[in-house]
Amino acid sequence: MIKVVLISHTPDPERTIAAAARVSSSPVGAVELLEKLTPERVAQLVERLIASGHMSVFEHANFTFALEGISRVTSHQLVRHRLASYTQQSQRYVSLKDFNYITPASISGKAELAGRYHETVRAAHQLYLEMQDAGIPAEDARYVLPNAAETRLVMTMNARELIHACSLRLCLRAQWEIVELFEHIKAEVEKVAPRLAAELKPKCYRLGYCDEMESCGIFPTRAELADKRGGNT
Ligand SMILES: Cc1cc2nc3c(=O)[nH]c(=O)nc-3n(C[C@H](O)[C@H](O)[C@H](O)COP(=O)(O)OP(=O)(O)OC[C@H]3O[C@@H](n4cnc5c(N)ncnc54)[C@H](O)[C@@H]3O)c2cc1C
Repeated sequence: MIKVVLISHTPDPERTIAAAARVSSSPVGAVELLEKLTPERVAQLVERLIASGHMSVFEHANFTFALEGISRVTSHQLVRHRLASYTQQSQRYVSLKDFNYITPASISGKAELAGRYHETVRAAHQLYLEMQDAGIPAEDARYVLPNAAETRLVMTMNARELIHACSLRLCLRAQWEIVELFEHIKAEVEKVAPRLAAELKPKCYRLGYCDEMESCGIFPTRAELADKRGGNT
């Protein structure tokens, strides 16, 4: 089961973003601005920054998450987001005696295939253990382990990259596991920065259309939108 815990973050993240933004157009410094900003003004500023695309100020707020219970499929997709810092449990240094793995619902829903899936994964793990008993180091024995292998990481991402990554990974055209992971991430951000969390949404909400080949149905694709507009004129 996916577990996400926000283990640390920039104190008062939204206020920090708002104060940083105000510095550019104010005669006073960030310390004074921080004292003067009311919660309403902070919310207003965050909204305006998003609307105007003044995104660099969102880099001042950092969030560090402990992530557990995801597959190596998903961690591989996650670390493609380059503007973040990651530390992942090593399969070189940690020998996986207790082997946990992820089973997609599409597989567990098919009893016969699911049985073979579990059999195959467990057989791979058994061979992994036997190879280590024969003196093969964990870093080499792990080559036999599947993508389904569970992993854990610590990830630090700033608010700008969170907005960007969520725009891609909360999209229902992304794979279910990473969508679920980012839903958990969003829920954690919501606890400390609700205004910011409201901006963690699929890209279509910002675009007003779906830029994938096929829409999930929330918004029409660009082509469907153009057809509609053409029909109206
Ligand atoms: C649905 C889906 C399917 C995908 N399928 C595939 C696939 O089949 N194969 C595959 O290889 N990948 C795939 N990806 C991964 C995808 O191509 C990106 O690598 C990943 O989403 C990271 O996002 P990003 O490139 O926007 O940048 P991030 O690394 O999140 O960086 C954020 C932004 O910073 C800027 N940036 C970062 N690094 C640079 C740089 N070096 N130069 C210039 N600008 C930079 C860009 O504006 C970028 O958008 C898929 C992603 C999604 C969401």
